[in-house]
Amino acid sequence: SNAIRPLIAGNWKMNGLKSSLGEFEAMLAGAAAVAAKADLLVCPPATLIAAFAEKARGSKALGVGAQDCHPKPSGAHTGDISAEMLGDAGARAIIVGHSERRADHGETDALVRQKAEAVWRAGLTAIVCIGETQKQRDAGQTLEICGSQLSASLPDGATEKNLVVAYEPVWAIGTGLTPTAGDVEQVHRFVRELLIERFKGEGAKIRILYGGSVKPSNAAELMAVANVNGALVGGASLKAADFLAIARGC
Ligand code: PEP
Repeated sequence: SNAIRPLIAGNWKMNGLKSSLGEFEAMLAGAAAVAAKADLLVCPPATLIAAFAEKARGSKALGVGAQDCHPKPSGAHTGDISAEMLGDAGARAIIVGHSERRADHGETDALVRQKAEAVWRAGLTAIVCIGETQKQRDAGQTLEICGSQLSASLPDGATEKNLVVAYEPVWAIGTGLTPTAGDVEQVHRFVRELLIERFKGEGAKIRILYGGSVKPSNAAELMAVANVNGALVGGASLKAADFLAIARGC
């Protein structure tokens, strides 16, 4: 919706092997046809970033991203990967603060903010995720939770180029459940207001993605909601046909 160019970002999570290269190539082959409508980004596991980026080299239609990074550029952090390394492998953007990282690894808003700063230090775009749990929604705390996560997870200096916000209600991720269009509109309007308050003119242009059980059959309705500037897609981003169909829906 609106004048902001939509972004359809795929989060492959902990899925994908070298044998997935063919699926990525199918996405690349179909990407040009949707390039007029939306930017496309695929975030595979770190092990596949370099191979995917090599295939996508020179493509304006489809970019490659990462799912997490360490806040530091290098050092004694066994098993971790820095934003600089991910950029070097070919990532243009990095998801930070995904609810699975917050839940499985105890990531706080303060850490997510440090990671977003690391993404910028590496010259990449941070896709910062926020969203309430079912319990928080039931308690009527959705806006309060999203607002506090947003303020504490975002560094100062956000622009339309360096930041994408993803609103992902935790209860909608991987469940097949989605909020109503009205509920999505309310949260996205609230996020937009906070972004404008803090980042002024840039805040009006920063993309706000919806994420949580987006699939070809519901994408068009969700993408038509005011202040929804694309989608962060998990499960349905693993298949080229589904991912491209979602992009055609915006
Ligand atoms: C996600 O993990 O970012 C996500 C939105 O997952 P799914 O589309 O599978 O609900």
